[in-house]
Amino acid sequence: MAGLSAFRSMAIVVLGPAALDVARRIQARFVDARVHGLANRVNADIAYADFGAHLRALYASGTPIVALCSAGIVIRALAPGLADKSAEPPVLAVAQDGSAVVPLLGGMRGVNVLAREIGAALDVAPAITTSGELRFGQCLLAPPEGYVLADIERGKRFVSDLLAGQATRIEGRAPWLDEAALPRAADARLTVRVTPQAISDEHSLVIHPRGVLAWIGDVPRDDDVAECVRIALRERGVSPLALAALVAPAHFMTSASLEAAARALDVPLRFCDVPPFDTGDARGVVLRVDDAPVDVQSIGRARGRLSVIGLGPGSAELMTPAARSALTAAQDVLGYETYVRMAGPFRDDQRVHMTDNREELQRAAHAFELASTGRRVVVVSSGDPGVFAMAAAVLEALDKGALEHPEWNQVKLSVVPGVSASLATAARAGAPLGHDFCVLSLSDNLKPWSVIETRIAHAGEADLVMAFYNPLSKARPWQFDRAIEIVKRYRNATTPVVLGRDIGRPAEALRVVTLGELKSDLVDMRTMVIVGSSTTRVVGDWVYTPRWYE
Ligand code: SAH
Repeated sequence: MAGLSAFRSMAIVVLGPAALDVARRIQARFVDARVHGLANRVNADIAYADFGAHLRALYASGTPIVALCSAGIVIRALAPGLADKSAEPPVLAVAQDGSAVVPLLGGMRGVNVLAREIGAALDVAPAITTSGELRFGQCLLAPPEGYVLADIERGKRFVSDLLAGQATRIEGRAPWLDEAALPRAADARLTVRVTPQAISDEHSLVIHPRGVLAWIGDVPRDDDVAECVRIALRERGVSPLALAALVAPAHFMTSASLEAAARALDVPLRFCDVPPFDTGDARGVVLRVDDAPVDVQSIGRARGRLSVIGLGPGSAELMTPAARSALTAAQDVLGYETYVRMAGPFRDDQRVHMTDNREELQRAAHAFELASTGRRVVVVSSGDPGVFAMAAAVLEALDKGALEHPEWNQVKLSVVPGVSASLATAARAGAPLGHDFCVLSLSDNLKPWSVIETRIAHAGEADLVMAFYNPLSKARPWQFDRAIEIVKRYRNATTPVVLGRDIGRPAEALRVVTLGELKSDLVDMRTMVIVGSSTTRVVGDWVYTPRWYE
């Protein structure tokens, strides 16, 4: 998938379900593309309410836009917000049936490259209209993956000079320009220079190959690693834009200052047991400068990442952007089949590992094994991963397995919160959790039933609102009625009870009953049960627990 990472976080915007098929075909070709659909009309990854406002917001945030609608609609929507030419993202209109690809804006950010990519995915020729492209068969200002343009303003002047009739020559290796119909002359004043060196001269179009590796043999305490790298680059006259990666010994894998340096320099961080090139006796930062791009993936390995994420109750709107980004970055996705399906669709390059709901510890260990090899792994839970879900299982696996597998400690572990079922259900009902409350799982798979009974009694006595997870299953048929019996010792039969089933999913159903009416045939494993406190009230269709207490 060469050349695709330049179009990160691309938004494929559709108005109706008719365009969804083409949208998904385009999405499958890109590393980080999401389908945005009109709320309640299309089941997309991201919902929007107002097409024009949404498009303008995407444009303003610099997000590449592929709109599956007429060019006119896009132009009218964006016209009020058209900003300066160099900063704008690529914007394309694609016919709903995939029969036409029209690059509209963002020539400087590679809209034509993107148009060709999409054209190839849909098997149509893109409607390229840019003069530079047509004349030279290539946009000089959007070099391929592995190369960066040093200065866009200079680039623009360079291309206008060429369009005005001047000739050029190429210094350095630019294989992608071999086919370009550039007016060439061996003695031309205008020069395309492909070099890692930081050069600034008026007659050159400077393009840097990302071919420089910085070996950080030693991570000094309290030292700004990024600054050390910048100094080393400056000493060699090399542009920071030519830097391809930081490389360090594997025993520095958990170093926070290295991570900060890679972030500051905006390059990947790789780890090797021995340096990938001869570093002599030098300590600190050693550079290897190459005049062709390096394949960073082939150097050592990355620090593995394991993110335990919460998907929210079901719908894409209730998933946090942080969870969405983790999914986008994931190479491996693990989880119970239902949730993994909820987290999709996935790209061809993502591996999906579905398991039975009960094999949680094994799943967690498997996740650590994959992440230990340098992969980006995501474990999915519904709702919040810390509420009766995988985050605790993952930490339990680490607790039990780290001695035997010390490499698990090198993994960058993170827990990404989500909207838990009790919170989503409460929001639909109003504010039943508006005052003190507790959450309890009624499952006695992993704890004795007697503990559950004691806790319900104490919660009843403390007058807490109670949110019951896992209320009932075929294997646990009598427990729910028993739990309600205990609650009734402490609450009136008129106490409001909220029953949320499949909240945030297509079959969503919300009911409000009284404690007197509550019985086990009103609930199942997909239901959230919120039993009010003595102060919980009903107002119209709403249920709330006041903030005050007497
Ligand atoms: N980690 C999850 C909870 C897992 S326990 C979370 O934070 O939401 C599973 C229980 O959660 C189910 O038995 C049900 O009681 C509740 N639940 C999960 N998703 C739900 C939904 N969409 N609607 C209602 N209840 C849900």
